[in-house]
Amino acid sequence: MKITRIEWCGYRIPFKSHYVTSNGRAEYRYGLLLRLQTDDGITGVGEASPVGAGDEQEVAQIHQEMLSLSPVLLNARIDGEPALHSISSSLSSASAPVRFSIESALYDLLGKAQRRTVVAILGGTPRPVAVNALIATDSPKQAARYAQEAVAAGFTTLKIKVGAPRLEDDIRLLAAVRQEAGPQITIRIDANQAWNVKQAIKAITTLERFGLEYVEQPVLARYIRGLAEVRVAVSTPIAADEALSSTSDAQRLIQSQAADIFIIKAARIGLLEALEILALARKAGKAVIVTSSLEAGVGIAASLHLAALLPETSPACGLATGPLLESDLLIDHLVLSHGLLLFPNGHGLGVVLDEEALRRYSIGITGSVSA
Ligand SMILES: [Mg+2]
Repeated sequence: MKITRIEWCGYRIPFKSHYVTSNGRAEYRYGLLLRLQTDDGITGVGEASPVGAGDEQEVAQIHQEMLSLSPVLLNARIDGEPALHSISSSLSSASAPVRFSIESALYDLLGKAQRRTVVAILGGTPRPVAVNALIATDSPKQAARYAQEAVAAGFTTLKIKVGAPRLEDDIRLLAAVRQEAGPQITIRIDANQAWNVKQAIKAITTLERFGLEYVEQPVLARYIRGLAEVRVAVSTPIAADEALSSTSDAQRLIQSQAADIFIIKAARIGLLEALEILALARKAGKAVIVTSSLEAGVGIAASLHLAALLPETSPACGLATGPLLESDLLIDHLVLSHGLLLFPNGHGLGVVLDEEALRRYSIGITGSVSA
């Protein structure tokens, strides 16, 4: 089959409540959805949403990238994975969200054409994936309420955004969550690069008393040596998130023994490169956690297929972010049940875009190119 039409549409979806990290707070998630159509009437979908909450300017930038990449995609034949890899190799200059969207849409097309799931094409089996609940607020009272709701809904792992300007505020936040959740619940924290090495060591050794599964990205992403210094100084395992954008980052992290756990965000890496990192991590004996980048349903579904490739005993993945948004832009919503993200039925990615919802949340940054 051959790609005959490319369409994309930028969106803006409100967060149900303000999304707060050490980088600030956001009211809206800005992103972009991509559709590839073939001459045999199949449509593949992918999501190119900036990492984080995004903004209109970033979506406009992605729109420009889509325009300039259209000639690569239009009339391209996709009859199997080799063709997909060859298209992907001509995207090396594209941004990671754009590569992620195109690679997802190509796998979606291939899966639909072969009547298989994407995870099956990648050598895995569809299965529900254990996921953590995300608590991103600076209010201890609100955090405790979210923790209570999450535990009642069956989550057994909670991830808390920390890195407040004053350590006391993080202590209050963690204390409120641990007290509400009880001792059985697994708690992990994410500082999103908020600390320097000294602050990180102090914060982690202070917060360790609340029982932490791991701490994510305590220091600046580019500061791999600093991450390694923190890792040897504390007893809580260290996870690399922002520090992991490519296979060469993964190699560097392994060589410097800077992290115990690799966080894979396909929107920051691309789908195919994420698969390479998965293989590297497996060889190095690193645990991997696949997380969303706060995408709508299409992006989360693509990451779910990736997550299903991990060993079933892996720590919970960060894919329960759909409910943070007012809409996931899908006809049949992805289902969270008792701390698991269920696998959608259907070939390819297994999701169907809700065109009407997409129109409702569109920000007018759209494009289409036909053969
Ligand atoms: Mg993170």
